[in-house]
Amino acid sequence: MDLWIQPCALCADLYGQPSTATPHRDLTLNGVGAVKDARAEEHYTCIRCRAVFARILAGPPTRQIWLLLNAGQH
Ligand SMILES: [Zn+2]
Repeated sequence: MDLWIQPCALCADLYGQPSTATPHRDLTLNGVGAVKDARAEEHYTCIRCRAVFARILAGPPTRQIWLLLNAGQH
């Protein structure tokens, strides 16, 4: 399993966007049961580059963004 991936262009664009932005076409929603509180956070995996995103739906507005969980910081 690749822990650190190179995000594809679509993922690179989405990273850091407000969580109100819609997921791009290659993202699939992970099982809701995998997330402790589905109202606060959704997790998505990209079928193209295997990036894993957390879409933060609760908390301070400045923290409600698309977080990339497994990308290298290169
Ligand atoms: Zn991707």
